[in-house]
Amino acid sequence: MDSMPAFVLKRPTSVAEAATLLASDPQARLLAGGTDLVPNMRRGIARPTLLIDLAEVTGLDAVTLAPEGTWIGARVRLAPLAADTSFALAWPAVTEAASSIAGPGHRGAATVGGNLCLDTRCVFYNQSEWWRAANNYCLKLGGDTCHVAPQGARCHAAFSGDLAPALLVLDAEVELVCSRGTRRIALADMYRDDGAAHLTIARDEILTRVLIPAGANARVSGYRKARARAAMDFPLAGVACAVTPGDGGVLRSLRVALTGTNAHPLVLAGTEALVGRAVDDAMLAALGKLVQKQVSPMRTTVTQSNYRRQVAAVLAQRLLRTLAQQASVTTA
Ligand SMILES: Cc1cc2nc3c(=O)[nH]c(=O)nc-3n(C[C@H](O)[C@H](O)[C@H](O)COP(=O)(O)OP(=O)(O)OC[C@H]3O[C@@H](n4cnc5c(N)ncnc54)[C@H](O)[C@@H]3O)c2cc1C
Ligand code: SF4
Repeated sequence: MDSMPAFVLKRPTSVAEAATLLASDPQARLLAGGTDLVPNMRRGIARPTLLIDLAEVTGLDAVTLAPEGTWIGARVRLAPLAADTSFALAWPAVTEAASSIAGPGHRGAATVGGNLCLDTRCVFYNQSEWWRAANNYCLKLGGDTCHVAPQGARCHAAFSGDLAPALLVLDAEVELVCSRGTRRIALADMYRDDGAAHLTIARDEILTRVLIPAGANARVSGYRKARARAAMDFPLAGVACAVTPGDGGVLRSLRVALTGTNAHPLVLAGTEALVGRAVDDAMLAALGKLVQKQVSPMRTTVTQSNYRRQVAAVLAQRLLRTLAQQASVTTA
């Protein structure tokens, strides 16, 4: 990595001021914990001329209860979120995901907003400038060929944030603010399947809060990930599940979402066909097939794509069996 390039640092104290600054310069970037952005700047893959530090912006660092649900401020840090025991009782998937992100030092600085807006990752991209130059760069930045799939014209870099799937299975929404106003969208709509441009939000929008809707309370949830180093690593595959137990020992609802395998966090389609069934071997086999069919891990990590495909399915199966046992759904 190189040393930090030159930039101007601003520390606004309100969201409105931050939004005005962000709109004022097309090269401006928001800085939250900096645990992803700063290494990327030192690799030369992010070159902002203006950094807008959110550290002093008021109103972004609390978890608050409201009639519509629970709001999580974008600047809530992962360590206190993971340590919040009443939050963990309600939404264990989010707590398990938060506590699995990076190492303790990172979690002390890293934020919810930064994790949801994390750049996609690839072994050909998260490299120093000289390494990428020696490989003639690539389609995502500075080059014209994807080294992972050279015959294609798209980037397959993987979205590898852990929080997104945990929030997606709870139908989370996000509040976005810019100098033109405020809007609220489903978290799922914040992403698209394109490793070079996976966020749908406008360049000048700030993610201010995440809402877990009140209806999500009824669900039992969890998160599991596979990683190369257990102490600290991005997911090779990560899976979140949320289930609502129903009468007669069967599931009334099932939501599954994955990370680390596609260019966007993937909400698994077709799970409604598994609702109303006992969680037995046949049902788990059907879930495994759904996962294997919809994930598309590419050669973006040093770990083989087929391993990541299979491990995603196994993680989903094991997690669902555990959740069904917790929810007293019939298992076999
Ligand atoms: C060694 C190492 C291991 C890691 N392991 C993991 C891991 O296991 N799982 C994982 O998910 N991540 C991991 N990370 C990445 C990173 O630490 C986390 O994703 C962290 O949560 C990022 O949050 P941050 O606040 O530091 O974001 P920053 O680095 O400050 O920002 C990340 C991006 O989000 C944008 N951004 C920040 N806040 C907002 C906002 N409010 N609105 C709009 N855009 C915003 C920034 O402009 C930037 O583009 C790892 C990083 C390192 C260095
Ligand atoms: S998937 Fe291809 S285009 Fe995308 S970062 Fe990797 S090598 Fe570059």
